[in-house]
Amino acid sequence: MIFQFQKRKKIIKIAGGGLAGLTAAINLSKAGFRVKVYEKSSQIGGHYKENAQMLPNWFSKEDVIEELEKCNLKINWLEKIEEVKISLRKQKVIFYSKKNPVGYSILRGGENSLEKDLAQQAKSLGVEIITNWKGEIDNKINIIATGLNKILTIGYGRVYKGKFEPSKVKVFFSPQYTPTFGYCYLFPHNENIATIKISKEIKEKQINLKENFKKLQRDYLSKEIEEKNFLYDFGSKRSFEVPKSAVKNHSFLVGEAAGFQDELFRFGMRYAIISGHLAAKAIMENLNYDRLWKKRFLEEFQRTARVRRIFQDFKSKGFGGLPKDSEIFVEIEKFKKLWLSRKFNTSLSFYPLYKNFLFNKFILKTLLKLF
Ligand SMILES: Cc1cc2nc3c(=O)[nH]c(=O)nc-3n(C[C@H](O)[C@H](O)[C@H](O)COP(=O)(O)OP(=O)(O)OC[C@H]3O[C@@H](n4cnc5c(N)ncnc54)[C@H](O)[C@@H]3O)c2cc1C
Repeated sequence: MIFQFQKRKKIIKIAGGGLAGLTAAINLSKAGFRVKVYEKSSQIGGHYKENAQMLPNWFSKEDVIEELEKCNLKINWLEKIEEVKISLRKQKVIFYSKKNPVGYSILRGGENSLEKDLAQQAKSLGVEIITNWKGEIDNKINIIATGLNKILTIGYGRVYKGKFEPSKVKVFFSPQYTPTFGYCYLFPHNENIATIKISKEIKEKQINLKENFKKLQRDYLSKEIEEKNFLYDFGSKRSFEVPKSAVKNHSFLVGEAAGFQDELFRFGMRYAIISGHLAAKAIMENLNYDRLWKKRFLEEFQRTARVRRIFQDFKSKGFGGLPKDSEIFVEIEKFKKLWLSRKFNTSLSFYPLYKNFLFNKFILKTLLKLF
């Protein structure tokens, strides 16, 4: 009883009303704390132009929606993604699902976005959301959920109307458009609207994203995309950098503010939601936040960083290990099993030792294990 009263008196202050901040707010409010969310933009979700993002379904044993709903919120998704086709020059790797979706598409920004929905869930629990906030992030802020903390990659995207297959995503890796490791994708929001996006490392100053975007469109997407159906464009900035500690002057950093992103494809939504939940748990149960997120994420982050390194070598060697003009089909359940296995992670950690002389064989062997 006394504890409940103390909780009701204590105000938890969260800077940033994105996925991570709102997840923390929902959890703390459910536990009886008074919560205030301070958002810089004039509205929740206002810093994104309406744009679909993918929630991949291979980072956890269970379905990713079920996993995230264990963070005590309801996830509003648009479509199940049944196929992701990755084009590596003339080779194609096609992730498909028999049982579980390869991923889910989520709408970010705009009236029907996930963050708007989470804001509603938070408000109905009594969370106070203050928009247009221009205050200082000082040590009175308990949770810092302000997103991007550093710019490592930049992107350019365009949204079109047309006729699309909503369950199918196309990804292109090609030195022609994104020399280091950026990639391009066509991502349908539904059967009428799709986003195309291209990105590059910030240090690749010589690359003109808009020009490369035009080339990609001309070479691969001219059938799907007609310029007259252009709706709007947007820019994007991303960061990823696993911190040594996500605690700053007693405040907990969550989501992208902490640098939590998958280093391979830069998926960040899942980490934002889970870290928001973990920060709330640390406050509610007086636990060590750094210990909680490290236990949950650290091995995963290492794995994605290692695969990224392989992809980078793979790309610079022209994907030499794969037969030309091949189409390789990967069943998502099998991939998930391999991805989550300890054996896979261990074999990846030895990669630097044999990459130079066994490069192609290693890649082939790893890929063959998948199918
Ligand atoms: C174009 C693009 C495509 C992406 N695609 C994917 C994808 O397909 N899959 C995926 O998983 N991830 C994707 N991501 C990454 C994902 O969007 C982020 O990792 C995720 O949104 C991070 O959530 P967050 O709550 O930490 O930060 P955000 O969602 O960025 O929210 C931060 C909030 O804090 C507010 N804020 C900022 N500064 C302050 C301040 N000083 N005071 C108060 N409020 C402040 C912002 O206005 C914002 O509302 C993509 C990102 C971009 C930009």
